[in-house]
Amino acid sequence: MRLIAPGVLQIEFNIGNVYLVGEPGEPWVVVDTSMPGHFEQVRNVASGRFGADSRPEAILLTHGHMDHIGSALELASYWGVPVYAHPLEKPFITGQATYPPADPTVGGAFAFMSRFFKPYAVDLSDHYQPLPEDGSVPGLPEWHWHHTPGHAPGQVAFFRESDRVLLTGDAVTTYNVDTVSGWTRREPGLFRPPSATTIDWTAARKSVKRLAALEPLVLGPGHGEALSGDDLPERLAEFSEAFIIPLKGRYVTDPVVTDENGIVYLPPPAPDPLPRVAAGVAVAAAVVGLGFLAAKKKHNSGSSSSSDGNGDADAESEPNADGKSPGA
Ligand SMILES: [Zn+2]
Ligand SMILES: [Zn+2]
Repeated sequence: MRLIAPGVLQIEFNIGNVYLVGEPGEPWVVVDTSMPGHFEQVRNVASGRFGADSRPEAILLTHGHMDHIGSALELASYWGVPVYAHPLEKPFITGQATYPPADPTVGGAFAFMSRFFKPYAVDLSDHYQPLPEDGSVPGLPEWHWHHTPGHAPGQVAFFRESDRVLLTGDAVTTYNVDTVSGWTRREPGLFRPPSATTIDWTAARKSVKRLAALEPLVLGPGHGEALSGDDLPERLAEFSEAFIIPLKGRYVTDPVVTDENGIVYLPPPAPDPLPRVAAGVAVAAAVVGLGFLAAKKKHNSGSSSSSDGNGDADAESEPNADGKSPGA
């Protein structure tokens, strides 16, 4: 963890950053809560910085994907504080609806793996509050929120004008979350939101332009280390101009439409050859396996050996044991 700007502490987890914003002795908030299972770590860092008896004014969510909301319910319950999010995220974080399915056809390793994700939802009904319409941020009088839809319908960024500090959520990431080498090397730079879970690419591009117009000097992303420097506004502007929308994918030309009650329009799935290929391989393996067993049985006929027929031909591979989506 490190201070990326005065009073802005970044806790960088493997998947999903958390920010503690505020000076010790003054009101403070938590921005995003990373994956499930980080309750104790976040609480302990907060206790160390603000005191064991201190509690935040609120938890703020950039959006409700699993890697941002994962520890929100435990933290909110422990501290007894509200969780603020944009009203367009409300149905997805209060048990009313589930996010649109990830798009495995958009390209990249993360999208490939998204075939094995299971839906994840948290019901924050007891804590949810809408972000104020006037753009102010509860608990942070110097900050404003900016709507940055595209990756998630109600995604927001938080911005402190006085020294131009920007917390982007997933509107911009600082390592390439779509590739294996990006995940392993984490070479810093400016990158698109996680592709598989981006549901409106034109809006996502517009949102980056909107953030570039703020000309931030410090950028704290939802994924990756913080970037800063006098050249950051120019870098972000260039990135927004060069923002490349994927060539193919379910939501590339046909975005999801949502409202404050959930999904209004969901594009049909794009053709995905992989399940057919996988099914073909499974059938071939089963045929070969059964043939092998039949041959073995014939060979062993009369024998009382119990070593055959162990069912390997029916064994189904389990590519992702816990099947949990990082949501991203
Ligand atoms: Zn996300
Ligand atoms: Zn994320």
